[in-house]
Amino acid sequence: MDKVKNIIVGCGITGITLARRIAEEKNEEVLIIDNKDHIGGNCYDYYDENICVHKYGTHIFHTDNKDVWNFLSKFTKWHPYMHKVKAVIEGIEIPVPFNINSMEMVFPSCLSEKLQQKLVEKFGFGKKVPILELRKCDDKDLNFLADYIYKRIFLDYTLKQWGVKPEDLDPLVTGRVPVYVSRDDRYFQNKYQGIPLNGYTKMMEKMLDHPLIKVKLNTSFNDIKNSIEYEKLYYTGAIDEYFDYKFGELPYRSINLDFQKYDKEYYQSNSVINYPENYTFTRIGEYKYFLDDKSDKTIVSFEYPEAFVRGKNERYYPIINEENLALYQKYLDEAKKDPKLMFLGRLGDYKYYDMDKAIERVLNMEI
Ligand code: UDP
Repeated sequence: MDKVKNIIVGCGITGITLARRIAEEKNEEVLIIDNKDHIGGNCYDYYDENICVHKYGTHIFHTDNKDVWNFLSKFTKWHPYMHKVKAVIEGIEIPVPFNINSMEMVFPSCLSEKLQQKLVEKFGFGKKVPILELRKCDDKDLNFLADYIYKRIFLDYTLKQWGVKPEDLDPLVTGRVPVYVSRDDRYFQNKYQGIPLNGYTKMMEKMLDHPLIKVKLNTSFNDIKNSIEYEKLYYTGAIDEYFDYKFGELPYRSINLDFQKYDKEYYQSNSVINYPENYTFTRIGEYKYFLDDKSDKTIVSFEYPEAFVRGKNERYYPIINEENLALYQKYLDEAKKDPKLMFLGRLGDYKYYDMDKAIERVLNMEI
């Protein structure tokens, strides 16, 4: 029987951050396993045609947490990058989140001036207003604006992405992209933003590069659990899978990414362009923009959201609602019976973490 002090299941950003902490701070050995054939989970990237391609869709790092930024900065330099997103509405590309610049592009100036004045009066310049909040306004002009943004930006996109209307989702989901009473076109206003200079995979390889960390790919926990002794098991995979789905399956949304290579310098005008209306995909990502890669080819991905189905595709987004959280809680109560076992990460915690929040969770936990 093999022996190891710590096992981490899942070699994504959560598992890798934890492995590093255990090795460095506790000076203990860690075995980290993953059933995929690469490290990094859904943050994995690779080079093709001199372009750094994000295998699981566009990933942009942003945080306000200095500790998270400093932690990662030990393993990578950063390419300064401020993310902007455009959406095609009525044939034109407007900034998303919808802001004053977007408004001026879709309405005649007298109307947009009036709406701008009302928005500033009601909320204040610089404020971010979730669409579901804006829809509650009793002012008829703001109501008109809210309806426009709801229908053009949110309704069809959300139906495609989640299979339900915006109001039937946890409000935090559409609240991620609030209407912005501002002229700042950036997608995020966080203090620290950037893309790892040589890609996410290189950064994560450095994090794993420690004599006490051993990585085993193409390996699931079931493959090894009867042949290895351990003191602590950190499970960043799906919690329902660990318990063999005994209370039922936790639902997720997935994405089918259709990668295309084009024999031209650029395919579109921006790294990410959303298509809320008219198409079955939600957005197109063009990867060379992130690190300003030079190539006479370009690589893009079309995102087709779909339900997660075991064996068919990957888990991307937990579907946060009362029913699913109650099911998650059942699994968590079961997990608490085993003092050697801990769940974490997007799949273990069943939370819609951004990368920085996944890392923050690991940096703040007791090990
Ligand atoms: N959303 C939308 N239209 C957009 C952008 C976002 O309706 O043009 C909604 C949609 O429900 C989406 C959510 O806002 O799932 C969060 O968007 P975000 O870009 O944060 O999603 P992620 O990048 O995590 O997939």
